[in-house]
Amino acid sequence: MPENTPTGLTGLAFGGDYNPEQWPESVWREDMALMREAGVTMVSVGIFSWALLEPSPGAYDFAWLDRVLDLLHENGIRADLGTPTVAPPAWFYRAHPEALPVTAEGVRQEFGSRGAICHSNAAYREASSGITGQLARRYAQHPALAMWHVHNEFGVPVSACYCSSCAVHFRDWLQTTYGSVEAVNEAWGTAFWGQRYGSFAEIEPPRVTPTVGNPAQALDYRRFADATLRENFVRERDILHRLAPGAPVTTNFMTALSQCDSLDYWAWGREVDIVTNDHYLITDGRRTHVNLAMAADLTRSVAGGAPWLLLEHSTSGVNWQPRNPAKAPGQMARNSLAHVARGSEGAMFFQWRQSRRGAEKFHSAMLPHAGTDSRVWREVVELGASIEQLGPLKGTRTVADVAVLWDWHSWWAQTLQWRPSEDHDARERA
Ligand SMILES: [Zn+2]
Repeated sequence: MPENTPTGLTGLAFGGDYNPEQWPESVWREDMALMREAGVTMVSVGIFSWALLEPSPGAYDFAWLDRVLDLLHENGIRADLGTPTVAPPAWFYRAHPEALPVTAEGVRQEFGSRGAICHSNAAYREASSGITGQLARRYAQHPALAMWHVHNEFGVPVSACYCSSCAVHFRDWLQTTYGSVEAVNEAWGTAFWGQRYGSFAEIEPPRVTPTVGNPAQALDYRRFADATLRENFVRERDILHRLAPGAPVTTNFMTALSQCDSLDYWAWGREVDIVTNDHYLITDGRRTHVNLAMAADLTRSVAGGAPWLLLEHSTSGVNWQPRNPAKAPGQMARNSLAHVARGSEGAMFFQWRQSRRGAEKFHSAMLPHAGTDSRVWREVVELGASIEQLGPLKGTRTVADVAVLWDWHSWWAQTLQWRPSEDHDARERA
């Protein structure tokens, strides 16, 4: 049985996403020294590195990742090692353009961002199994390995694809779920507006229609899309369990109801060895501390009450909202420790060193552009010391006094088109 806590971590986890491939190796030594100064115990590596690890089909370059993992081990830092399957290389799409996702409007989304994946696509499934197997075989015995981090934030930014491969996959899912096309007609109420189907072959994904489409079809497509993403998680997880037994396997959830609306995390929580979560503050005037508390409690619930781990949050502002205010002095520590109080086995961030290039260069980090002579860095070092002192909390449970019932499928049903009032929002407390 795989462990359900990061291997080799004696206290709480403190650290962040570490992307050394974005920097010259001369910077890596400084990273190690500063990580030690900050009390970093674990970092997430390799999450978007497929194009560097497999620069051309079947040709691998693991030397740089070997050096990174060896350096981490020499410095007593554990590695949450990513399978980079959220970021297939450009060469993959050149060979398999049909693996790019298609929107409900029929627009194929292009390479050049991240997460552009049709999860039903056979070539994607084969290629992602290939790189996952390579990593599992190479690093199963590496002494820095603490756990496996499959993919990244399933469901974000693409939660469903509407291409012809997904249509075939959807029909298979319907056949398994309902058994007969008559049962589909009954469940979807297709007598309404003449939508009756004579065979599974006549059914398509709920693409754009002249006016509102069949609501039960739309709801089933959300269930199907969620199940399809989970199939790909389970496929990678099983490869890792088989080739690298022992280390726990996770994928980072986004349980805040304002950040990911496409996964049924009750079902996902049953598939991971350890529940991990990413949480970011939405600064549109809502009470962010309420959102944080609910997300953390929901994450603990998804974990069945067991400890979980905050795998990403931010030291200060993010960069993907219209306005991204910096956190006030002390706000980072308060938020980090609020997660710990609600059952997190530590506090990790996106990311360790603030990027100098790319779409997230204005996103805050543990080591900001301003360097170590900065408030953020001083607060990070202070928080690292606090997290170290809280080591005895590892493995302890948080007990709730009250319960709130929450069901993702019910929420999805409440968001379908044409209902009594759009003002009703099941998430109003979130
Ligand atoms: Zn598709």
